[in-house]
Amino acid sequence: MSDNFDVIIIGGGLAATSAAMTLRNRGKSVGVVCNRQETSSLYKAEKVTNYPGLPPMSGEEMTALFRRQLEESGAELIFGRALSVMPMGNTFGVAVGSDFYMCTALILAAGITREKLYPGEGEFLGRGVSYCATCDGMLYRGKTVAVVGGGEEARHDADFLESIGCRVLRFEQNGKYEIRGGLKADTLVFAGEEHKVDGIFIIKDTVSVTRLVPGLVYEKGAVVVDRSLATSVPGVFAAGDCTGKPYQLAKAAGEGNVAALSACDYIAGLKN
Ligand SMILES: Cc1cc2nc3c(=O)[nH]c(=O)nc-3n(C[C@H](O)[C@H](O)[C@H](O)COP(=O)(O)OP(=O)(O)OC[C@H]3O[C@@H](n4cnc5c(N)ncnc54)[C@H](O)[C@@H]3O)c2cc1C
Repeated sequence: MSDNFDVIIIGGGLAATSAAMTLRNRGKSVGVVCNRQETSSLYKAEKVTNYPGLPPMSGEEMTALFRRQLEESGAELIFGRALSVMPMGNTFGVAVGSDFYMCTALILAAGITREKLYPGEGEFLGRGVSYCATCDGMLYRGKTVAVVGGGEEARHDADFLESIGCRVLRFEQNGKYEIRGGLKADTLVFAGEEHKVDGIFIIKDTVSVTRLVPGLVYEKGAVVVDRSLATSVPGVFAAGDCTGKPYQLAKAAGEGNVAALSACDYIAGLKN
């Protein structure tokens, strides 16, 4: 698999599929960072009756159709969770788990995150709270860290942190967590019990787009875009639910297409 693309798309739903298809038609190399298809909003729809060209069907069936189209688009699928985006001059670096990919333009098609943050999570992010063991683990070598979250990725991250010399406390249960601290997070509260820690790694399926790209302007949780779907960060475009209401499939498909064409124009502009 390549690690350098014309365009990286973050998200694997309809907005991402539409953008990937258009970019491939334009001859661009495309990497799509995508989660399991069950994480798409569409997967939860009982029956969809308003998407042109397709008969009424369940969200689960439609998600599978779109995922197959994405797989067959010629884009490279990078399975995992994009953790952060780093602007680097005329390119972007995208951290996915322990891997790193580069691109010239970026399309955010990550849908909306309905999940609530734990109290203190947003406040201490980057100050003792991290979503990425590979990126930040070394900072906690020889120290005590908590890993919050179940599943394969959380287990993998806990093992990794242990392997580099951290003392790891595992919290796999769902429930009420709270993060406290002063200048930095120093306490994880779970089930009424306080745990003193030096760092807290929170492992989730998604990272809200509002926290993925530094300098991105957003309003009420939605990425602010213009009619070309350009965001406030040159070279970064957004499409689908992450740009705000209405949360509808036809909008996601249309915006994916426009964002892709705008990304092509942006790349052409860099060459002139
Ligand atoms: C119950 C329900 C019923 C609905 N019914 C209808 C309907 O009948 N008609 C209609 O038009 N619309 C309907 N919708 C809305 C429709 O499902 C959404 O508008 C559409 O799915 C948006 O597509 P999207 O690609 O923007 O986001 P999504 O389909 O949500 O896809 C986003 C994907 O990006 C992934 N992602 C997020 N962050 C990251 C990251 N950091 N790294 C990697 N991947 C990431 C997510 O896990 C997800 O898989 C319904 C929604 C719900 C919840």
